[in-house]
Amino acid sequence: MEPVIRVEDFCKTYRNGTMEVRAVRGVSLDIFPGEFVAIMGSSGSGKSTLMNTIGCLDRPTSGRYLLDGVDIGRLNRDQLADLRNRKLGFVFQGFNLLSRTTALENVELPMLYSRPLLPAREQNQRAMKALELVGLRDRTDHHPNQLSGGQQQRVAVARALVNHPKVLLADEPTGNLDTRTSIELMGVFQTLNDQGITIVMVTHEMDIASYSKRKIVMRDGMIRSDEAVARRLHAPDELTKLEAEQKAIQLT
Ligand code: ADP
Repeated sequence: MEPVIRVEDFCKTYRNGTMEVRAVRGVSLDIFPGEFVAIMGSSGSGKSTLMNTIGCLDRPTSGRYLLDGVDIGRLNRDQLADLRNRKLGFVFQGFNLLSRTTALENVELPMLYSRPLLPAREQNQRAMKALELVGLRDRTDHHPNQLSGGQQQRVAVARALVNHPKVLLADEPTGNLDTRTSIELMGVFQTLNDQGITIVMVTHEMDIASYSKRKIVMRDGMIRSDEAVARRLHAPDELTKLEAEQKAIQLT
C-alpha cells in the first residue's frame, strides 16, 4: 500500500530579519490510508508547522512532501490549492463557520470552489449526506448561533467531508468543547475512521489522543516518539462511564 502522506526529511526555518527559528528539523513520516493519527507535543514543538505543510498551506524549506503520491514541491500555487481542495478536509478549533448561513449552506461551501462544478441538486444531496453522517440531518436549516458548540463542530466536520477528501486534518478540534462533547466528537471521528477515512489530528490533550490509533509526540521540531495507542479508548464506552459518574455525583 502507498502512503497517503509521505514527509521526507522535512525542515522548516523561519527567518525574521536576522533571527532564525528552526521550527521543524528533519521529520520523516508515512501515514497510510485508514490510519487515525494524533500529533502531540508542547507549545512551540513544531506541530502547527508540520500540520501546515501536510495541509498544503505552506512549503518545506528543505525536504519533500508527497500527498497521495504527488510531490507538492513541483506544483504552482493554483495546482497546490486544487490538490488541497480535492484531497484534504480541514477542521479547526474555532469551527470557522459562516454565521449568517445555515448549516446546510456552510457544508455546501467547499463545493463552490471545486472544479468541475457539481449541479446544484447534487451539491445539495452531498451536503445532506455529510450532515447525516455526523448526525445532524434534523438541523440543516439552523444557523450556527442556534447550534451548540458540539453541533457546530459537527457541521464543520460535515463541511470537511463534503468533497470526499482522502484525509481529514483536525487542529485541536476539541479545544473549545467540554468533556462530554469532546468524547462525542471523538465518537464521530472513530465512526468515520471505521468507514475508511484517514484522520490526522493535533491535540495537546492526552485523553483525546487515546481515541486515535497512533500517537506521534514532537519535541523541539523533531519526532520524539511514534507508537500505536496501547489502550485505545472507545467513545461509546467512555460516554457510558461518564454518565454513570455524573449520576453517582447527583445521588451523593
Ligand atoms: P506548535 O504548533 O507545536 O506550538 P509551531 O509549529 O507553531 O509549534 O512553532 C514552532 C516554532 O516555530 C516556535 O518556536 C514558533 O515560535 C516558531 N514559529 C512558528 N511560526 C513562525 C513564523 N511564522 N515566524 C517565525 N517563527 C515561527
